[in-house]
Amino acid sequence: MASRYNRCVNLMLCAQLDNIDTWKRELAAALPDGEIAVWPDIADPDRIDIALVAKPPSGVLAQFPNLRLIASLWAGVDGMLADPLWPRHVPMTRLIDPQLTRAMVESVVMHVLNAHRMAPRYRMQQFRAQWIQHHQPTAAERTVAILGYGELGRACAEALLPFGFELIGWSRSPKADSRIALEHGEAGLGRALARAAIAVCLLPNTAGTRGLIDASRLAQLPRGATLINVGRGTVVDDDALLAALDSGELEAAILDVYHHEPLPASHRFWKHERVWVYPHVAAETDPRSAARVVADTIRRFRAGEPLPERVDPQRGY
Ligand code: NAP
Repeated sequence: MASRYNRCVNLMLCAQLDNIDTWKRELAAALPDGEIAVWPDIADPDRIDIALVAKPPSGVLAQFPNLRLIASLWAGVDGMLADPLWPRHVPMTRLIDPQLTRAMVESVVMHVLNAHRMAPRYRMQQFRAQWIQHHQPTAAERTVAILGYGELGRACAEALLPFGFELIGWSRSPKADSRIALEHGEAGLGRALARAAIAVCLLPNTAGTRGLIDASRLAQLPRGATLINVGRGTVVDDDALLAALDSGELEAAILDVYHHEPLPASHRFWKHERVWVYPHVAAETDPRSAARVVADTIRRFRAGEPLPERVDPQRGY
């Protein structure tokens, strides 16, 4: 039977996907009328009109002259935008997957509760065989700032509300939400940090966020605050963070993302007693749900419907 998309092939790049067979199976089920070719085994690049990619090697997307849509299989698109050769005229979407959001919510709730209940300090004491009981503030006495109040930040705030934390969301543009305090822009960041016992970074890696959390921003946090970074490693200045931890200004850092991944074995984060290292596992893409989400994006794209998940290359996210 001729494919409905006999002039269109959905391309998926295998280069950065270790579970390629699962992707192929799930996408074939979600897109029964599509053809899926896996890079680099593409017989006819002219027939490719949609690219499904995570972080393709530089220059790969430019090999397809008839590309009409690039759909990211990851929530963060910084890897793709870093490719100087990606075709700028082709619209790009990112992944907004409820399953990925749930995973991020689980991770952030866990990290915030660990920070709130002083888990890093008790862990440190355990290694020293120290029995020291600290006064435990209530959640209502702690302010949690969520830096990056987007899809994931909003869902995390929603999940943290019932614990009774005071919440502040910080974004680039102004937002409205009567249940939590909201700040935006440069001045708003200072106000959010100044109150944050726990700061959760859920920012993308863009020209506007790289190195944003530097020594001066860390100094705006109250003494004894904990920084959680599950957004992108490039947002935080590692040396400034280590200095703040060494001096005791910061209580702890719970990190999931880094400037260079895998985190090099020589990096001081690994052995620092105030740092918890997670290997970029806060919210992985699950092909079973992501394939359905991407299939829906493709259906809407083919029908000419709006794509709210569209990436703005100027903003970088
Ligand atoms: P999103 O919906 O695009 O939200 C991004 C948020 O960051 C928005 O609120 C945006 O502000 C804000 N923002 C961006 N640049 C800013 C700036 N210069 N100043 C202030 N605020 C700024 O993205 P998302 O889906 O929530 O994902 C966020 C990030 O999480 C991704 O980009 C990715 O890097 C990371 N991530 C990590 C993992 C992991 O496993 N660790 C998994 C998935 C995603 P506006 O609302 O005003 O636009």
